[in-house]
Amino acid sequence: MKHASDARLRAEKRAQKHCTHWIGGKPWDGEADRHGDVYDPATGQVTGQVDFASPAEVDLAVEAAKDAFRTWRRISLAKRASVMFAFRELLRDHATELAKLVSEEHGKVASDAAGEISRGLEVVEFACGIPHLLKGGYSENVSTGIDSYSIRQPVGVVAGITPFNFPAMVPMWMFPLAIACGNTFVLKPSEKDPSASLMLASLWAEAGLPDGVFNVVQGDKEAVDAILGHPDIKAVSFVGSTPIARYVYENGTKAGKRVQALGGAKNHMVVLPDADLDLAADAAVSAGFGSAGERCMAISAVVAVDPIGDDLMSRITERVARIRVGPGTDERSEMGPLITGPHRDRVASYLDSGVREGATLAVDGRLHPVIGGAVKGAGEAGGGFWLGPSVLDHVTPEMSCYTDEIFGPVLSVLRAPTYEAAVELVNTSRYGNGTAVFTNDGGAARRFVSEAEIGMVGVNVPIPVPMAYYSFGGWKASLFGDLHIYGTEGVHFYTHGKVVTSRWLDPSHGGVNLGFPVNT
Ligand code: NAD
Repeated sequence: MKHASDARLRAEKRAQKHCTHWIGGKPWDGEADRHGDVYDPATGQVTGQVDFASPAEVDLAVEAAKDAFRTWRRISLAKRASVMFAFRELLRDHATELAKLVSEEHGKVASDAAGEISRGLEVVEFACGIPHLLKGGYSENVSTGIDSYSIRQPVGVVAGITPFNFPAMVPMWMFPLAIACGNTFVLKPSEKDPSASLMLASLWAEAGLPDGVFNVVQGDKEAVDAILGHPDIKAVSFVGSTPIARYVYENGTKAGKRVQALGGAKNHMVVLPDADLDLAADAAVSAGFGSAGERCMAISAVVAVDPIGDDLMSRITERVARIRVGPGTDERSEMGPLITGPHRDRVASYLDSGVREGATLAVDGRLHPVIGGAVKGAGEAGGGFWLGPSVLDHVTPEMSCYTDEIFGPVLSVLRAPTYEAAVELVNTSRYGNGTAVFTNDGGAARRFVSEAEIGMVGVNVPIPVPMAYYSFGGWKASLFGDLHIYGTEGVHFYTHGKVVTSRWLDPSHGGVNLGFPVNT
């Protein structure tokens, strides 16, 4: 009997997908020592295995990228742009397929996955304009007979380390610009949803990107540490939680690398008494529960300024009750499951701790129906990683449901007596990713925009993710480093600036002069 069941298990394993690294223009054909499981969060079942890179595989990927850099950095801007355009076309053609892969491993609903592909595509389109973006300045005759000009040059092999929640979009915040600028790239995606990175790699190959310019190493901390310590990697872009962002920033910079590390968030939505409360309630529910709250720009704290708290709450709870929770692959679903069983349990624990610390559990997501079945927890037969939308009311600043990033479908509602008290909450938060104000008073909105100590601010817009031609990034514990990601700051991150001062000899040269060069 035992033999039969072992054989069945082995057969099942063989039928599951296998995600490996992409090195030098093709899938890696070695045998990994360590692996991780990939799940379907809607069923809780393992659907495949992902190889975990050791330092040896990271070395291979960096070696391929280093080789490719020698030629890619010299490829003309026109040619680089034409490869970007080809990649853009392929991405558009395969957007539905890519979104499906994302849904299957992440759990987010199809429309949400399609949205992440289209926001990533916008960065690719921005990168298509690289010839214009890399234009420098030129000044004639800065001193007699001398001209000056500035150029931007690629930094070399760069790496991107990305989180589970946007397996396609967040890598595309990084590599289109890095590659368009003439760098070569090593991506270390989240081990929880590794397939999107491999599809992106094969689209690059089809677009005509030379082998080794884009590589993927799958894995966990071991791969990250190998990247941080690798002498041939010159810059690292990271997006993930705050403790790991800090770790990556500290260790990467200690090893002499340029690092931008984007961390976690706690985004406040301040609702002033004059706001359109239906608009505000729609926005709070959409931004709080879209992608099951697993977005770094999700609204997790609504701050209702007196006296509208009760009125706003009733409009929010009425909307939350109508959210359709179900598998990402079912087109009726508006919200999917969470990424893993342990994460689901951690998120649910804040409902208990919130109540213990004095909050009111106005909506308990553990009781919310799921399309196609009852709410089941991780590990239960047929159970996925489900948790419906929850609302905690009368939350106060010292409660852990407020101080911690929950990263799930839990909306905390706080009451503030005045505008000043609401802004104080926003500004004393340790995070500074996004915030929004809802009001019909232009003066109040303008003041909020000026006073909020936050990187991205929305006015009657709950998720103010900047377009590709601006740059994305927070303040405080939401970003370690100096430059935001994508947009023109992305171009600066992936290039060194150089200023050239040049003189073509003419008969007026004046002999040796040991003084410091000054204008004459
Ligand atoms: P995470 O920090 O756990 O993982 C991010 C990456 O770091 C992954 O590639 C992972 O493999 C790696 N990693 C995990 N633990 C590590 C360790 N101990 N040492 C070295 N590397 C490690 O984040 P996550 O759970 O995948 O993603 C959710 C987090 O990402 C949330 O905190 C969210 O706010 C944040 N996020 C931030 C932004 C932003 O723009 N600021 C965007 C998306 C997600």
